[in-house]
Amino acid sequence: MSFPVAKLELYQPEANELRSVLEKGLKNSFEEASVQIIDCPNLKKEPFNLAAKGICGRPTLIDVGGVRNLQPVPLRNKIYNLDKLTQIAHNPEAFLMGAGGGPFHITSVNCEVSILTRWDPHKNSSFLQCFLVFRTLSRVRILSSLTSVLISRCHKDRPQMPDPGYSALGPRTAWLEILHIIAGLKFMANIRTSATGHGRNLSYIARLDPVNEYKLLQMPENRECGLMLNALVCEGKEGKVMQVKAKKRTQDTNFITAMRETLKVAYGDKPIGFGGVFLLQSGNAKLHIMPDFPIYPLNDDATVNSWLKFYDMHAPLACLSTFVTNDPLNMDLRIEHTHCYSDHGQGGHYHHDTTPDTAEYLGYFVLCNTLYRIDKPAMLHRRK
Ligand SMILES: [Zn+2]
Repeated sequence: MSFPVAKLELYQPEANELRSVLEKGLKNSFEEASVQIIDCPNLKKEPFNLAAKGICGRPTLIDVGGVRNLQPVPLRNKIYNLDKLTQIAHNPEAFLMGAGGGPFHITSVNCEVSILTRWDPHKNSSFLQCFLVFRTLSRVRILSSLTSVLISRCHKDRPQMPDPGYSALGPRTAWLEILHIIAGLKFMANIRTSATGHGRNLSYIARLDPVNEYKLLQMPENRECGLMLNALVCEGKEGKVMQVKAKKRTQDTNFITAMRETLKVAYGDKPIGFGGVFLLQSGNAKLHIMPDFPIYPLNDDATVNSWLKFYDMHAPLACLSTFVTNDPLNMDLRIEHTHCYSDHGQGGHYHHDTTPDTAEYLGYFVLCNTLYRIDKPAMLHRRK
């Protein structure tokens, strides 16, 4: 399936100036705040558990589908293949991380997803797999031929004793058979890989059961999401990142909104986009998880808010986030979207912390150069 795609070039302020602007602005919303430009730590490690070490390398944002695919009635045909999305962002060897609608067609119930997928160049297309296996077989034949020559030289002065159990399968043929079996096993393993996608998928799905008990699960074989997705696409490399720390919230805001509004004030109509991951290190946060699709239309915000299920979840929560400061081309952009996951079974869509005195944040972000708007819904989502 192909989707309409529009491109937005994002403004790139100078890094040190941006650092200074962010730090100063965050101090208006938090008692303590600091922003540093540092080498990206290994984010594969706990508690972030990303599918790649870093979040650098051609950082790009994608905004896929949208709330209009959910409201007023869900469009169940809006299923997005993650590998195709990274190809649209012209980064097929990508690490993808972000917040989206879960693969409801797989889980049988509407859900949230924190996307963490890494394309693996060593697990490529079926065509390339066939080529690699063919090449392996060719090498096997050369190796076995050399082996048979060696064996025949070693035994050339000895009398050849017929072996009843071995006569139909000479040394050369035996080597060939063994090596072909190994190659065949490799072929089957590769075919299985192609059926389950290319690379690593550490995504977390948050879903509710019929009595609204939540569950956080991983489905490594799945490479699809539903309805909407806001994500950072990059090469998953190490490099320079913006380390953002904030502690003790003093204003009625959230960590990402405070960053976004700071940049909006400083840079006006110039669109700036960020993607990254942050940790709520201490305190609690208000999260929601979408229940299954309602049998009634979601016509307004009041109906949506009574349908969503809200929870107070506790730190540590790892949160994948993207935000943009402006929508200058009227692309119906989601200006911020954050989903959380954890090792203690909690996760979902982040609203804000609920413990301003004890809230403490640590985040790593990259400035993005481009945003791709993919499959914008026909009807715009009007926000209040
Ligand atoms: Zn969400």
